This record gives sequence, structure tokens and C-alpha cells, in this order.
Amino acid sequence: MKNFTYYQPTSLSGVLKVLDEAAGKAEILAGGTDLLDRMKEYISQPEKVVSLVGFSGPFKEISSIAGHPPTVTIGAGVKLVNIAESELLRPYPALTSAAAQIAGPQIRNMGTLGGSLCQRNRCWYFRDEHVQCLLKGGRRCFAHDGENQYHAIFTQGHPCVIVHPSTLAPPLMVLGATCDIRSHKAQRQIPIEQLFQAPVKDGQREHTLAPNELLVSVTIAPKIPPGATLRNASYEVKQKETSDWPIVQASVAYYTEAGGQVAKGVRIALGHVAPTPLLSPAAAKVLEGQEVNEKTASAAAEAAVEGARPLSQNAYKVQQLKVAVRRAILLASGAKPYWEG
Ligand SMILES: Cc1cc2nc3c(=O)[nH]c(=O)nc-3n(C[C@H](O)[C@H](O)[C@H](O)COP(=O)(O)OP(=O)(O)OC[C@H]3O[C@@H](n4cnc5c(N)ncnc54)[C@H](O)[C@@H]3O)c2cc1C
Repeated sequence: MKNFTYYQPTSLSGVLKVLDEAAGKAEILAGGTDLLDRMKEYISQPEKVVSLVGFSGPFKEISSIAGHPPTVTIGAGVKLVNIAESELLRPYPALTSAAAQIAGPQIRNMGTLGGSLCQRNRCWYFRDEHVQCLLKGGRRCFAHDGENQYHAIFTQGHPCVIVHPSTLAPPLMVLGATCDIRSHKAQRQIPIEQLFQAPVKDGQREHTLAPNELLVSVTIAPKIPPGATLRNASYEVKQKETSDWPIVQASVAYYTEAGGQVAKGVRIALGHVAPTPLLSPAAAKVLEGQEVNEKTASAAAEAAVEGARPLSQNAYKVQQLKVAVRRAILLASGAKPYWEG
């Protein structure tokens, strides 16, 4: 491991002062479950490691303002286990169920919201120190013609075909979350979908934060008419029951008016199928204004895979994505999960 300087500021502003404007020089150490692996594998070699362990406060707390539904702010330093088990986040099962399924108890007790959203991709070419792929200054993406069974299926226009690894991103996107971002000099708020980008070269990350910016918190405040009910859910297709990322994921949110079953304000997001988590306006449009049942859920699932261009080894993910979208919609509606027998 390359030598680095360790910083342990005792305040958020102390963290912001130490961050560097040049890409790759400083890394934030939250739970360390992604960063330390990368450093030990020579994938990331920062000169400064800036720990977030030295202070407490809203950065590590979940707070709520009463409302229908409530506005909930989650500090970026909140542990995944606390998101999974939060009473304040109960109206948002799309998010809590996704947090509860991440890895295993050890990772959920160390990993944080900020770390999940800002973790780097899991492409095995990127993660191999001997492979100089596009994201490490090389000239080609080896997954395009190589071992690509877990890579993107929405590949058009993407020179690098990673999938975004965060399973908290799709639920936060359908819940219309916003991010509070700060640097030493400035503060800004963005819709969470603007936090992500498809990296194509060395120095670019899977997120749009500048090297000297910190994600401070994420706020969920869905707007629905008085008396309406917010419905939301996520579904992951997995190879293993635990300790792995899913193969595909879908998150869904919509509301129904009092006494009605018609889906309105539909948002559907897809995970692990593209270099960024992906909102699917096409799938949302098919479900909008419809009563939710197996037929309309299946129609939305068909629309969700429009435009998919799988690679040589991952066409199977197209069918799995349809399953994930259909099941997420049905779960959100409160239907009994027929697939559980
Ligand atoms: C076996 C296994 C299975 C997993 N399965 C899943 C899964 O299904 N879904 C999923 O989402 N994740 C999964 N993960 C990843 C896990 O969620 C992340 O490792 C964890 O969330 C990272 O959080 P951390 O606090 O440890 O981040 P760290 O390792 O400390 O940081 C990760 C990166 O984020 C940056 N960062 C951290 N906080 C901030 C911030 N506030 N602002 C800006 N940048 C920041 C750091 O600089 C670093 O580059 C899995 C991990 C393992 C090991």
C-alpha cells in the first residue's frame, strides 16, 4: 500500500478544509468497506485519507419533519443498518428493504449512506490492479468483448459498460430525493439522479461530486395530494441470498387517491443494468393512470426493457429485469407475493 497521510478532523468543516481540489489525491474514509479494499488492491492510492469518525451530529443522524408523507433527512454518515431499521423511514419500504438486503450484518454495521452512493463499481477488470481499463488510463473497456455476464444491458453510447453498484440509489430516485452537497467554499442541492454519471476515463468517478465536495445528507420529501397514499417498493433478483450485489434491481413509487387503485405520479428506477442507476420514463408512462394488477405490471415491465442492448453474455438480464420491475410494482400495490409460494 502506498504511504498516505491520515486526517481525523473533529468537525464537518474540518473535513471540508482538508479535501483536495485535484482528483484522486484525497479520499474520504467513512466505514471503509469499499475504500480500504481498493487501497489494498492498489486501485486507489490517495495521498490523504480523511476519516469521518472524529465528529457526531446531523451528519450521522436521521431526522424527520411531520407531514403526509413525512420529510426525512438522512445524514450521509448514517450506517446502513440504521437506515434498514429506522422507524422514521417506515413510510419508505423501497429504501429500507434495499438497505436491509445489502451484503451482511458486518458491512451494514460499518457501511454508510454516503459510502453506498459514492462506492466505486465492481467490474472485475477495473478491480484488477494489472488491467489498465478505460477508467484507469487505458484505451479500451475489456468487458465489451470479454467476461461481461454481470455488466450493463443498456450499453448504447457507453464506452465503459460497468453497472452502478448502489442499491440505495434506485429507491432514492423514485422517492424524489435531493442531495445536500458541500465544499469548503460552497453548498448546493441537486436531485439525486444528478449525483450519478457514467465515467469514461481516468479521474472520473461514478458520481458528479467535485474532488473537494462532500455529500452531507439526502432528503426524501415526496409530494402527493392530501388524502392520497404513497406506495413504494424495491425488488432485487439475486444469485445469492446474502453478501453479494444483486444481478438486477427495480424500485417503484406512486400514489393512489383515497379509495382508488389507480397509480399516479409513477416513478420507476432500474439498478445494475447501466453505468448509472436509471429512471425509466417509458415504464412509468405505461403504468400511469392504470389500476395496478399483474397485467399492467407486466406491460410496464416490457416497457422498462425497451432500448436494452445486452452484451455477449448477459442477455439473460433482460428477462430478469422484467421480473424485477413487475414484482416491485406488485409489492408496492400490497399484492401478496405469488413468487413466495
Ligand atoms: C460482499 C458485499 C456485498 C455488497 N452488496 C451491496 C449491495 O447489494 N448494495 C449496495 O449498495 N452496496 C453493496 N455493498 C457495498 C457497500 O454498501 C459499501 O461498501 C458501503 O456502503 C460503503 O460505505 P462505507 O461507509 O464503508 O464507504 P467507504 O469505503 O468509507 O467509502 C466508499 C467511497 O465513498 C466515498 N465517500 C464516502 N462517504 C462519502 C461522502 N459523504 N461524500 C462523498 N464521498 C464519500 C469515499 O471517498 C470512498 O471513495 C456490498 C459490499 C460487500 C463487501
